[in-house]
Amino acid sequence: MSHELIAEELASHGLTDEETGFRDEMRDFPDEVVAPAAYEYDTKRELPYGIIAQMGERGLFGLPFPVEYGGQGKSYFHLCLAVEQLSRADQSIGVTLEAGVGLGAMPIYRGGTEAQKQQWLPMLARGEALAGFGLTEADAGSDAAGTKTTARLENGEWVINGTKQFITNSGTRITRLVTVTAVTGESLRVDGSVKKELTAILVPSGTPGFTVEPAYD
Ligand SMILES: Cc1cc2nc3c(=O)[nH]c(=O)nc-3n(C[C@H](O)[C@H](O)[C@H](O)COP(=O)(O)OP(=O)(O)OC[C@H]3O[C@@H](n4cnc5c(N)ncnc54)[C@H](O)[C@@H]3O)c2cc1C
Repeated sequence: MSHELIAEELASHGLTDEETGFRDEMRDFPDEVVAPAAYEYDTKRELPYGIIAQMGERGLFGLPFPVEYGGQGKSYFHLCLAVEQLSRADQSIGVTLEAGVGLGAMPIYRGGTEAQKQQWLPMLARGEALAGFGLTEADAGSDAAGTKTTARLENGEWVINGTKQFITNSGTRITRLVTVTAVTGESLRVDGSVKKELTAILVPSGTPGFTVEPAYD
């Protein structure tokens, strides 16, 4: 869904009866399961994998994806309602869902080939695996054009060189891939300045040379 459509959908709410019912269904799980565990896991600086698994069983990671890819066939707005309810209890759990869907699975759904969608989306939509999206670098945050990571094709394989930071869900026990942005070429603008070509490349966890640093405090 485009940003314009999301904005339009948000602007027109008032929740429908179905959405109100969905939001109400989403209330109990955060209150009864997420909130009681939040302080302990926050203090231990651990991701509560059991809670993530329960979110997966409830279909939360598949909310905006079609049933054919293991999703629930609902809207992005339903995802927002679920994130809102989870975040009442624990914003880390809320962002784990938001980033897992919005940054992990959504780029594959919107930009991936059919084979990539078939390979990755069902496990991501079921919450059995997490994916990240690695854009940010020391000199590239708001300004993605500052990206220094490069990728070049060598004997039919992409060789990626660079370091990313702040990549949500990139280093969990169930992370299976990170989509990484890299400079793959450059062109000249009419004013003579250089424009970088950025490409998003799926990097499965365990790819040689892909290392994850310890989590932030
Ligand atoms: C909890 C968390 C999770 C994150 N997860 C991810 C992730 O999964 N993947 C990923 O790639 N990144 C992730 N990030 C990184 C995030 O996307 C960047 O922090 C963000 O893009 C800002 O970049 P920066 O930190 O380099 O700050 P900067 O871009 O250096 O910005 C610093 C300050 O300057 C302001 N500023 C910047 N440019 C302008 C401008 N042109 N005009 C006016 N003001 C400006 C900003 O608003 C900000 O206040 C995460 C960050 C956090 C905190």
